[in-house]
Amino acid sequence: MFCVECGAEGPTYEGLCAKDFAKKHAVVRAPEVVDVERCASCGSFRFRSGWSKLERDLAATRLLRERIPTERPYERVTFTFVAREEDANNFSLTVKAVGRFQDLESVQGFRTRLRIKPSLCDNCQKQKGRYYEGILQVRGEGRELTPAEVRTVRTFVAARVDRSAEDGAFVSRMEEVHGGLDFYVSTNALGKNLARDIADAFGGSVSTSPKLFGQKEGREVFRVTSLVRLPPFRVGDVVRHKARLAEVVAVRPFVVLRDLASGEERRFKAKEVRSARRLDAERFEARIERPATGEAIAIHPESGEGRPVTPRPKERAARAVVVWTSEGAFLSALPADASKN
Ligand SMILES: [Zn+2]
Ligand SMILES: [Zn+2]
Repeated sequence: MFCVECGAEGPTYEGLCAKDFAKKHAVVRAPEVVDVERCASCGSFRFRSGWSKLERDLAATRLLRERIPTERPYERVTFTFVAREEDANNFSLTVKAVGRFQDLESVQGFRTRLRIKPSLCDNCQKQKGRYYEGILQVRGEGRELTPAEVRTVRTFVAARVDRSAEDGAFVSRMEEVHGGLDFYVSTNALGKNLARDIADAFGGSVSTSPKLFGQKEGREVFRVTSLVRLPPFRVGDVVRHKARLAEVVAVRPFVVLRDLASGEERRFKAKEVRSARRLDAERFEARIERPATGEAIAIHPESGEGRPVTPRPKERAARAVVVWTSEGAFLSALPADASKN
């Protein structure tokens, strides 16, 4: 037999000598990258057939076989490679593909990159739904959280956890309880860090209480409950503090109370105003009437009731934002919608 291409004598494959056969038929079409998901928790790789825990090089061999089809007319291809680590999730592979046709073996070398995408396998996903180590509790100091606070804290926690997901940080469940929120978190450190971050962002105090949970490999295991108490008051609240009526104009880093009768502001640490009590009060912009007596009278926009305003507005303003309590009407330093959320 001789080659129809070059005329060389010897064994031929579809009429070609081995060299010309290899020239005409590439063994594989080499991909630039091979992407694979790997479970960040147990290390399994995701193959077409499902998740499987294999050592990295074995996984790479299986992936090359799975992802790179044998080009006809080769009947079978095998791969060997050398991997060079670029970083934990990126490897440069120098691959040798050997294609077999009858008794012929054609060799083709190529380079590709193995890119590992951290993910979570089905099993770990399920376990994640149950597993927790610490608990993060968010409460209000002497009050329930408002619906707006519940929403804000949930969003805040979700964003923080997302950012540290690769360190095995997750929230396995979240419960709304007793006017507050409970988060079941994957590590005690995560619970503590979140508690501190929430207190930094929203004000409030943090405490932690470890409870012995059991033993793991001869080590005592603790479940730490981290508790954040958000400040007792919110901006806009009207409180009685040491027999004076005041409106809350700030809650962090200090609680600032503005005396409603004098207009004077004072700042306190959260624990110094623990004895202060919230009162029911309305805040709205009222029409101001000035009868001949020289008083300034605020008119309630719904009931039409009039009350003298303390302290008396200095300017000849026709309207003013007032705080309206059972004890009287007071000028407010805040906008009318300050306590709506
Ligand atoms: Zn030839
Ligand atoms: Zn897993």
